Amino acid sequence: MIYISTKIIQSWLYPATCVLCGAPGDADLDLCRGCRQDAPLNQHACRRCALPLNAPLPAHGLCGNCMRQPPPYHAGFALLRYSSPASDLIRDLKFHARLENARLLGSWMADTIAARSAPLPQLLIPVPLHRSRQRQRGFNQALELARPLARRLHIPIDARLARRLRNTAAQTELNAAARRANVRHAFALSAALPVRHVAIVDDVVTTGHTVAELAALLQRHGAQVIEVWCAARAAP
Ligand SMILES: [Zn+2]
Ligand SMILES: [Zn+2]
Repeated sequence: MIYISTKIIQSWLYPATCVLCGAPGDADLDLCRGCRQDAPLNQHACRRCALPLNAPLPAHGLCGNCMRQPPPYHAGFALLRYSSPASDLIRDLKFHARLENARLLGSWMADTIAARSAPLPQLLIPVPLHRSRQRQRGFNQALELARPLARRLHIPIDARLARRLRNTAAQTELNAAARRANVRHAFALSAALPVRHVAIVDDVVTTGHTVAELAALLQRHGAQVIEVWCAARAAP
Protein backbone atom coordinates (compact mmCIF):
# COMPACT_ATOMS: atom_id res chain seq x y z
CA MET A 1 0.00 0.00 0.00
CA ILE A 2 1.30 3.40 -0.91
CA TYR A 3 1.16 5.89 1.92
CA ILE A 4 0.95 9.52 0.91
CA SER A 5 0.52 12.01 3.71
CA THR A 6 -2.23 14.60 3.45
CA LYS A 7 0.48 17.21 3.84
CA ILE A 8 2.13 16.07 0.59
CA ILE A 9 -1.19 16.00 -1.26
CA GLN A 10 -1.97 19.48 0.03
CA SER A 11 1.40 20.75 -1.18
CA TRP A 12 0.61 19.37 -4.67
CA LEU A 13 -2.83 20.90 -4.75
CA TYR A 14 -1.93 24.18 -3.10
CA PRO A 15 1.79 24.89 -3.51
CA ALA A 16 3.03 27.47 -1.00
CA THR A 17 2.90 30.93 -2.58
CA CYS A 18 4.20 34.16 -1.04
CA VAL A 19 1.21 36.28 0.06
CA LEU A 20 3.33 39.41 -0.34
CA CYS A 21 4.92 39.01 -3.78
CA GLY A 22 3.50 35.83 -5.34
CA ALA A 23 6.85 34.01 -5.57
CA PRO A 24 7.00 30.32 -4.51
CA GLY A 25 6.80 29.91 -0.75
CA ASP A 26 9.73 28.78 1.33
CA ALA A 27 9.75 26.05 4.02
CA ASP A 28 6.06 25.16 3.72
CA LEU A 29 4.98 28.78 4.39
CA ASP A 30 3.06 31.13 2.09
CA LEU A 31 6.04 33.46 2.15
CA CYS A 32 9.13 33.50 -0.08
CA ARG A 33 12.65 33.46 1.28
CA GLY A 34 13.28 37.12 0.42
CA CYS A 35 10.13 38.44 2.06
CA ARG A 36 10.80 36.24 5.06
CA GLN A 37 14.31 37.64 5.46
CA ASP A 38 12.95 41.20 5.27
CA ALA A 39 10.20 40.62 7.86
CA PRO A 40 10.57 42.55 11.13
CA LEU A 41 10.96 39.59 13.53
CA ASN A 42 10.44 40.54 17.17
CA GLN A 43 13.63 38.83 18.23
CA HIS A 44 14.65 41.05 21.13
CA ALA A 45 11.64 41.47 23.35
CA CYS A 46 10.42 41.41 26.95
CA ARG A 47 9.84 37.75 27.78
CA ARG A 48 6.71 38.59 29.73
CA CYS A 49 4.84 41.09 27.53
CA ALA A 50 6.81 40.73 24.24
CA LEU A 51 7.44 44.48 24.06
CA PRO A 52 10.16 45.10 21.46
CA LEU A 53 13.43 45.99 23.20
CA ASN A 54 16.89 46.90 22.04
CA ALA A 55 19.60 44.27 22.20
CA PRO A 56 21.36 43.33 24.39
CA LEU A 57 18.50 42.44 26.71
CA PRO A 58 18.96 42.77 30.48
CA ALA A 59 19.66 39.44 32.21
CA HIS A 60 16.10 39.25 33.63
CA GLY A 61 14.71 39.74 30.11
CA LEU A 62 11.96 42.10 31.28
CA CYS A 63 10.90 45.57 30.19
CA GLY A 64 10.56 48.39 32.72
CA ASN A 65 6.77 48.06 32.89
CA CYS A 66 6.91 44.34 33.71
CA MET A 67 9.57 45.01 36.37
CA ARG A 68 7.38 47.63 38.05
CA GLN A 69 3.97 46.06 37.57
CA PRO A 70 3.92 42.53 36.11
CA PRO A 71 0.83 41.84 33.98
CA PRO A 72 -1.48 38.92 34.93
CA TYR A 73 0.15 36.65 32.32
CA HIS A 74 3.49 34.95 32.57
CA ALA A 75 5.05 34.85 29.13
CA GLY A 76 4.51 36.66 25.86
CA PHE A 77 5.39 35.76 22.31
CA ALA A 78 5.04 38.08 19.33
CA LEU A 79 6.29 36.83 15.99
CA LEU A 80 6.76 40.24 14.38
CA ARG A 81 7.01 43.89 15.24
CA TYR A 82 3.97 45.84 14.14
CA SER A 83 5.45 47.62 11.15
CA SER A 84 5.21 46.94 7.43
CA PRO A 85 4.65 44.25 6.18
CA ALA A 86 3.19 42.81 9.43
CA SER A 87 0.79 45.75 9.72
CA ASP A 88 -0.33 45.28 6.06
CA LEU A 89 -0.84 41.54 6.51
CA ILE A 90 -2.98 42.07 9.60
CA ARG A 91 -4.96 44.98 8.17
CA ASP A 92 -5.76 42.99 5.01
CA LEU A 93 -6.70 39.99 7.14
CA LYS A 94 -9.14 41.98 9.27
CA PHE A 95 -10.62 44.43 6.83
CA HIS A 96 -10.35 42.57 3.52
CA ALA A 97 -10.90 39.01 4.82
CA ARG A 98 -7.50 37.83 3.59
CA LEU A 99 -7.70 34.64 5.64
CA GLU A 100 -4.59 33.26 3.92
CA ASN A 101 -2.65 35.88 5.90
CA ALA A 102 -3.86 34.27 9.13
CA ARG A 103 -2.79 30.86 7.81
CA LEU A 104 0.67 32.24 7.08
CA LEU A 105 1.08 34.11 10.36
CA GLY A 106 -0.33 31.29 12.50
CA SER A 107 1.82 28.65 10.78
CA TRP A 108 4.91 30.79 11.13
CA MET A 109 4.14 31.45 14.81
CA ALA A 110 3.72 27.69 15.31
CA ASP A 111 7.05 26.87 13.64
CA THR A 112 8.83 29.35 15.91
CA ILE A 113 7.04 28.18 19.07
CA ALA A 114 7.65 24.51 18.22
CA ALA A 115 11.40 25.14 18.52
CA ARG A 116 11.20 26.13 22.17
CA SER A 117 11.95 23.81 25.08
CA ALA A 118 9.34 25.07 27.58
CA PRO A 119 6.16 22.96 27.91
CA LEU A 120 3.34 23.95 25.57
CA PRO A 121 -0.02 25.19 26.86
CA GLN A 122 -2.92 22.75 27.05
CA LEU A 123 -5.48 25.05 25.44
CA LEU A 124 -5.56 27.99 23.01
CA ILE A 125 -8.06 30.74 23.75
CA PRO A 126 -8.51 33.25 20.91
CA VAL A 127 -9.47 36.74 22.10
CA PRO A 128 -13.20 36.79 21.33
CA LEU A 129 -14.94 39.49 19.32
CA HIS A 130 -18.31 40.77 20.44
CA ARG A 131 -20.97 38.84 18.54
CA SER A 132 -22.14 41.91 16.63
CA ARG A 133 -18.61 42.63 15.38
CA GLN A 134 -18.07 38.97 14.52
CA ARG A 135 -21.32 38.96 12.55
CA GLN A 136 -20.27 42.10 10.71
CA ARG A 137 -16.77 40.77 9.90
CA GLY A 138 -17.82 37.18 9.32
CA PHE A 139 -14.88 35.72 11.23
CA ASN A 140 -12.64 36.28 14.24
CA GLN A 141 -9.06 36.95 13.13
CA ALA A 142 -7.71 35.62 16.46
CA LEU A 143 -9.48 32.30 15.88
CA GLU A 144 -8.15 32.15 12.30
CA LEU A 145 -4.61 32.60 13.67
CA ALA A 146 -5.23 29.95 16.33
CA ARG A 147 -6.29 27.29 13.78
CA PRO A 148 -2.84 26.67 12.22
CA LEU A 149 -1.26 26.98 15.68
CA ALA A 150 -3.57 24.25 16.96
CA ARG A 151 -2.94 22.03 13.95
CA ARG A 152 0.83 22.30 13.96
CA LEU A 153 1.32 22.22 17.73
CA HIS A 154 -1.48 19.70 18.49
CA ILE A 155 -3.17 21.93 21.05
CA PRO A 156 -6.98 22.19 21.19
CA ILE A 157 -8.73 25.55 20.70
CA ASP A 158 -11.71 26.67 22.72
CA ALA A 159 -13.28 29.64 20.95
CA ARG A 160 -16.50 29.50 23.01
CA LEU A 161 -15.07 29.53 26.52
CA ALA A 162 -14.44 33.28 26.64
CA ARG A 163 -17.15 35.69 25.55
CA ARG A 164 -16.95 39.40 24.91
CA LEU A 165 -19.75 41.09 26.80
CA ARG A 166 -19.52 44.56 25.36
CA ASN A 167 -18.82 45.84 21.88
CA THR A 168 -15.91 48.00 22.99
CA ALA A 169 -14.52 50.83 20.88
CA ALA A 170 -11.39 49.96 18.89
CA GLN A 171 -8.43 50.42 21.25
CA THR A 172 -6.51 52.37 18.62
CA GLU A 173 -9.08 55.16 18.75
CA LEU A 174 -8.54 55.79 22.46
CA ASN A 175 -5.86 57.36 24.62
CA ALA A 176 -3.96 55.30 27.18
CA ALA A 177 -6.27 55.90 30.17
CA ALA A 178 -9.42 55.30 28.14
CA ARG A 179 -8.00 52.05 26.72
CA ARG A 180 -7.79 50.44 30.14
CA ALA A 181 -11.31 51.53 31.09
CA ASN A 182 -12.61 50.44 27.69
CA VAL A 183 -11.83 46.76 28.25
CA ARG A 184 -12.60 46.54 31.99
CA HIS A 185 -15.06 43.69 32.60
CA ALA A 186 -15.26 43.19 28.84
CA PHE A 187 -15.10 39.37 29.06
CA ALA A 188 -16.82 36.47 30.79
CA LEU A 189 -16.24 32.72 30.80
CA SER A 190 -19.12 30.54 29.73
CA ALA A 191 -17.81 27.37 31.43
CA ALA A 192 -15.23 26.21 33.95
CA LEU A 193 -11.62 26.34 32.76
CA PRO A 194 -10.68 22.70 32.06
CA VAL A 195 -6.87 23.12 32.26
CA ARG A 196 -4.23 25.11 34.16
CA HIS A 197 -1.86 26.20 31.37
CA VAL A 198 -3.35 28.26 28.56
CA ALA A 199 -2.30 30.60 25.76
CA ILE A 200 -4.39 33.59 24.75
CA VAL A 201 -4.10 34.20 20.99
CA ASP A 202 -4.53 37.64 19.42
CA ASP A 203 -3.55 39.38 16.19
CA VAL A 204 -1.92 42.52 17.57
CA VAL A 205 -1.04 43.49 21.11
CA THR A 206 -0.48 47.22 21.68
CA THR A 207 -0.98 48.36 25.29
CA GLY A 208 -1.70 44.82 26.45
CA HIS A 209 -4.84 45.95 28.34
CA THR A 210 -7.17 43.64 26.38
CA VAL A 211 -5.12 40.48 26.90
CA ALA A 212 -4.43 41.50 30.53
CA GLU A 213 -8.17 41.78 31.19
CA LEU A 214 -8.81 38.33 29.73
CA ALA A 215 -5.77 36.87 31.53
CA ALA A 216 -6.97 38.24 34.87
CA LEU A 217 -10.34 36.58 34.31
CA LEU A 218 -8.66 33.25 33.43
CA GLN A 219 -6.50 33.57 36.52
CA ARG A 220 -9.57 34.09 38.73
CA HIS A 221 -10.93 30.88 37.20
CA GLY A 222 -7.88 28.85 38.12
CA ALA A 223 -5.38 29.31 35.28
CA GLN A 224 -1.89 28.97 36.72
CA VAL A 225 0.28 29.61 33.68
CA ILE A 226 -1.01 32.07 31.08
CA GLU A 227 0.84 32.92 27.90
CA VAL A 228 -0.03 35.53 25.31
CA TRP A 229 0.74 34.70 21.69
CA CYS A 230 0.27 37.33 19.03
CA ALA A 231 1.25 37.80 15.41
CA ALA A 232 2.60 41.29 16.01
CA ARG A 233 3.50 43.53 18.93
CA ALA A 234 3.22 47.27 18.65
CA ALA A 235 4.99 49.65 20.98
CA PRO A 236 2.15 51.67 22.59
ZN1 LIG B 1 7.67 37.26 -1.30
ZN1 LIG C 1 7.28 43.59 29.50
